[in-house]
Amino acid sequence: MNFDLPEDLVALRDGAREFAEKELAPRAAASDEAETFVEAQWKACGEQGWAGLSIPEAYGGAGLGSVATSVMLQELARACAATAVTMSVHLGLASSALVLYGNEAQKQKYLPRLASGEWLGAYALSEAGSGSDAAALRCAATPDGAGGFVLDGTKLWITSGDHADLIVVFARTSQASKSKGITAFLVEAAWPGFSAGKKEKKMGIRGSSTVEIRLDRVKVPKENVLGEVDKGFGVALGLLDGGRIGIASQALGIAQACLDASVKYAQEREQFGQPIASFQSIQWKLAEMALRIDAARLLTFRAAWLKDQGRPHTREASMAKLDASRCADFCAKEAVQVHGGAGYTKEFPVERFFRDARITEIYEGTTEIQNLVIARQTLGA
Ligand SMILES: Cc1cc2nc3c(=O)[nH]c(=O)nc-3n(C[C@H](O)[C@H](O)[C@H](O)COP(=O)(O)OP(=O)(O)OC[C@H]3O[C@@H](n4cnc5c(N)ncnc54)[C@H](O)[C@@H]3O)c2cc1C
Repeated sequence: MNFDLPEDLVALRDGAREFAEKELAPRAAASDEAETFVEAQWKACGEQGWAGLSIPEAYGGAGLGSVATSVMLQELARACAATAVTMSVHLGLASSALVLYGNEAQKQKYLPRLASGEWLGAYALSEAGSGSDAAALRCAATPDGAGGFVLDGTKLWITSGDHADLIVVFARTSQASKSKGITAFLVEAAWPGFSAGKKEKKMGIRGSSTVEIRLDRVKVPKENVLGEVDKGFGVALGLLDGGRIGIASQALGIAQACLDASVKYAQEREQFGQPIASFQSIQWKLAEMALRIDAARLLTFRAAWLKDQGRPHTREASMAKLDASRCADFCAKEAVQVHGGAGYTKEFPVERFFRDARITEIYEGTTEIQNLVIARQTLGA
């Protein structure tokens, strides 16, 4: 067993870190403050080749796996959690949908554009009445008589929904069963009837756009049915296994940024004539943060490694997401505490990290839902 990252991944990590510090970190506070989509950051990611990292080389990507993607996402999130989630959804949910479930024609048509960053991908499962209970979705897909479908409905909370070019939409094709009557569709944002609605005003990751999307008689040709009709719920859950490794990686990046900022501040800030890092209570906070980050990173890399081996990883992805998101929440809270009053102001980035960390316990399955997945797997249910 070897716990060292191989040389190529060390180089990838260092490259991603340098990129994130130069291109993302200086813009992160402004995107957060203005609640504007991370447009320039996304463009820079495309130019650098990050947008195609896990897309096979045959379709213009770098052909790297889940461990490599986790390494990259951790570094992006360390600088800007909003850019990291934009990338995590683009690669882990939208592009992966084509890689794992697309046919050859679909891959050739869409993957090169997604890999270059020219196109941005999104994933639309949630609706007003179906969040954790995703199989309760009501967006309707009616056969058009020629093998295609007409989509009608409203999706809620869609990351990048107003900037994406290709959206993986899940809609109901049969009422016969809750989960067995759902189909996945590849929908182009430019098609008639597709529109972005209300933009959410959020607590954190405010540079990531979260919007309602409306489907008003959107005609989807049969070529854009993803996978088999009525088998879309399996696609949705299969993609979330990978997506959760992405969110665990985002959470780890936020947690690491909290620790880095806290170590620096604790060594610079003096009280009672000495750096606050000399107080044992501060040291213990830093130690606990470091411990939890290492533990969560091991769980995350294990899940990513299993995925790269083509082995089942549902349980491990949920464990990684659950632990890493709790870790981010913990580290963000402690980072604000280490900074004292300064941590409660926008003068220091830990205030943003605190708000950004919160979402990692909610999207792509809440902490409670991860517990449910792990419990079911443990009970063999
Ligand atoms: C910023 C942001 C971005 C998002 N991006 C996307 C996206 O790109 N695509 C997409 O499809 N969705 C997206 N979502 C939706 C997200 O996945 C859902 O918000 C999440 O799954 C929770 O669903 P809900 O908000 O309806 O909460 P609910 O399901 O209503 O849950 C409310 C509370 O009840 C708990 N709960 C629910 N069911 C159970 C149960 N069986 N046992 C125990 N506790 C339970 C939950 O854990 C939670 O604490 C996004 C959400 C946000 C906030």
